[in-house]
Amino acid sequence: MLSTLLSTTPERLAEWMAERGFPRFHARQVFRWVFDRRAEDFGQMSDLPKALRGALAEEWKVFGSKIAHHSVAPDGTDKLLLECADGKRVECVLMAVEDRRTVCISTQVGCGMGCVFCASGLKGVERNLSKAEILEQVIRARNLLPIEERLTNLVVMGMGESLANLDNLIAALDWICSKDGLGFGQRRVTISTVGLPEKMRKLAGLDRQYHLAVSLHAAREEVRNELVPINERVGLSAVMDAADAYFQKTGRQVTFEYVMLRGINDGPEDSQALGRLLAKRKAHANLIPYNPVAGLPYERPSPEAIRDFVETVERYGVSVTVRKTKGREIDAACGQLRRRVEAIAPAGS
Ligand code: SAH
Repeated sequence: MLSTLLSTTPERLAEWMAERGFPRFHARQVFRWVFDRRAEDFGQMSDLPKALRGALAEEWKVFGSKIAHHSVAPDGTDKLLLECADGKRVECVLMAVEDRRTVCISTQVGCGMGCVFCASGLKGVERNLSKAEILEQVIRARNLLPIEERLTNLVVMGMGESLANLDNLIAALDWICSKDGLGFGQRRVTISTVGLPEKMRKLAGLDRQYHLAVSLHAAREEVRNELVPINERVGLSAVMDAADAYFQKTGRQVTFEYVMLRGINDGPEDSQALGRLLAKRKAHANLIPYNPVAGLPYERPSPEAIRDFVETVERYGVSVTVRKTKGREIDAACGQLRRRVEAIAPAGS
């Protein structure tokens, strides 16, 4: 079987070349073709010796995944469903808002956290994605952009619990953010987590500048236990302590995400609890009106209820934004496309 280029490193590829009598510097060239010039196979790498291109193609391929499905919403949002070598499918989304070009990537096949309103976790977690599988999503999505456009932001908010696959995720992000990759700014990357305190502390200790978003969804213990089952083991205060530690260590303000579910976490008691919890912190709240998932009973609150919620939280001096939904028409939200496509054409069929 061919190896995926992105599963190796420039140094290891240089070694591979040297062993076969090719100059090592060509390894860097190969990666420049992939990262800067959007090459998707070796045939396109026109300034490499022909013999080297042939040797590469015998043992390597640029991507390990293939595109199983590509859809474009009326608002321009692209959604890619990628099929990994083992037939597992993951999704990534490319969104354009004003000057921003944001890619949203997945870290696992499925998710083990079981948040009750989320499509990704309905069937549990199957496996972690490799460094290469994470990188490919970024590059595949970037390659959809017009040639004069660049990615400006990267959010790790697709399928999976990001910090449950911390090592592969960081390996992929560090490459993206290095000059050997896309030279992307670490501060333009947001890692979203359900809130795993130990992993949050580990990430804080890595001395990176990635922005952390914590999926809070409730500021009252009993409500969070219901929505985010893992909270029963973790507890709100441990999540908040780890978030505080992240801020102290990195100097980066933490964002708290809050999916708004009608009649469940959108009342005055909930907004007051959120205001109180965040008032004494330098933190930001990002409210996410629920994206309906087929088969789940939840609904998004009315615009008035969202407005009242925002006003209440703001009264505590907390900065709040409400996330705009992108790509709804193509199920770009939250693990939904994979389910729909699987219903139509199961993997491996
Ligand atoms: N596991 C990570 C990252 C993936 S989900 C985490 O929990 O943060 C990214 C965000 O989308 C999370 O805040 C998640 O709770 C939210 N989300 C999941 N399903 C959603 C839905 N149907 N509507 C709105 N937001 C949803």
